[in-house]
Amino acid sequence: MDFRLYNTLTRQKEIFKPIRAGEAGIYTCGPTVYHYAHIGNMRSYICEDGLVRALRFLGWKVKRVMNITDVGHLVSDADSGEDKMEVGARREGKSAWDIAKFYTEAFFRDYNALNCLMPEVVCPATEYIKEMVDLGLALEKKGFTYSIDGDGVYFDTARLPDYGKLAGRAHVEGIKEGARVEANALKRHPADFAVWKFAAPGEQRQMEWDSPWGRGFPGWHMECSAMAMKHLGETIDIHCGGEDHVAIHHTNEIAQSEAATGKPFSNYWMHVRFLVTGDSGKMSKSAGEFLTAAVLPQKGYDPLAYRYYCLLTHYRKQLEFSWEGVEAAARGLDGLRALAAKVKAEAAGPAPAADRNAKHFQDFSAALADDVNMPAALAVLWETLKDSSIPAPQRLAFALAAEEVTALGLFKAEEAQALPEGAAALIAEREAARKNKEWKKSDELRKALSDKGVLIEDTPQGTKWKLARG
Ligand code: AMP
Ligand code: ZN
Repeated sequence: MDFRLYNTLTRQKEIFKPIRAGEAGIYTCGPTVYHYAHIGNMRSYICEDGLVRALRFLGWKVKRVMNITDVGHLVSDADSGEDKMEVGARREGKSAWDIAKFYTEAFFRDYNALNCLMPEVVCPATEYIKEMVDLGLALEKKGFTYSIDGDGVYFDTARLPDYGKLAGRAHVEGIKEGARVEANALKRHPADFAVWKFAAPGEQRQMEWDSPWGRGFPGWHMECSAMAMKHLGETIDIHCGGEDHVAIHHTNEIAQSEAATGKPFSNYWMHVRFLVTGDSGKMSKSAGEFLTAAVLPQKGYDPLAYRYYCLLTHYRKQLEFSWEGVEAAARGLDGLRALAAKVKAEAAGPAPAADRNAKHFQDFSAALADDVNMPAALAVLWETLKDSSIPAPQRLAFALAAEEVTALGLFKAEEAQALPEGAAALIAEREAARKNKEWKKSDELRKALSDKGVLIEDTPQGTKWKLARG
């Protein structure tokens, strides 16, 4: 089955043609770890997780790379203003490095709670300074950079004829006209962006490195180009991110990668529209007030109810956040889980292999293959579970297959009931220990669980368990 994806670069839905047959190399812009990720950020990761899971369901092999922006960057996209990591460090009286570590861990806690699959490669920018310097040197050698004394090395956007193609040329003209007075007057064009920024004389930054141009730190677009190309090759299949990245971050990733290699950087660009709040518009980390995924259990919601809430709206539609919406999604998910439990009881035995040629299976696959149409796929799931003309064992087989894509914990209610008392807490404790690399503790917990008759298996999709007698 062809897989179609809307490509921001061409502004149309296209049949996905991979670089290597049957494989998809995907790069996802990861979190900036100077604060908690908010539920808007999480919408992007849930939808991107949907892409990965849909591709795998349809038979593709996926390798995904995600960066962690732990290098301090400047609050303004115009390469000016304060350094975000230093702002976080000052706010909390910690070092910039501790801030990065703390918020990276917090991010993956939320990410896991929302059942998003770990990328195959997770790369913190601070570990790729050399790759970024090398990219800067390649750009310099080809004449794409210029230096501003005491400020930094900049990418000369006028040297690249198709600069701005992702957002459209009108956008670049707009930058010129809309450039604010405080923008760096020494840049040749307001769209030019930093490849390397110099540490200001006399200023001791917590994060700074030596480079052929002087001590300082990389420009913020550099990390994604350097890391994507290092792990996925000079041309990658699919690059994802939220819609805010189209105009500047991804535009500049394309510019510096393509200027350095002379090859297309990414064949497909997938952008998730924003989660917005009715009163203040978009949710943003720098604006201070925002909701995190940790608020969900505090309000009595399973984080997967938020996942369901997100999957009910196509990723290319803006989603206006409301608690009423989350409440409705939570009730809907309860209903779906009850239906799954009923089907399982009716099937009264292990599920057979799913019939991939059955109409419901084909319809579900077709929805996923049509630009990851999760709302349509979920509608097929509901209809199929309710359809008593399909034998219960087949419905069960389908539900199990659909769970691999939707990851809504369809059998969660039932599983929790089946666990012996106290085991769920031990499993959670063991997951936390593993995340903290406390291997000894994790082994002890495994033993405690096995004494209760619960067998643990660690898989790339996370920890799974089964009952010894089950
Ligand atoms: P950041 O940590 O700010 O770099 O953002 C992490 C990811 O979340 C990026 O892909 C952003 O484009 C995305 N993002 C930021 N705000 C929102 C929002 N309100 N809704 C959906 N995605 C967002
Ligand atoms: Zn990026």
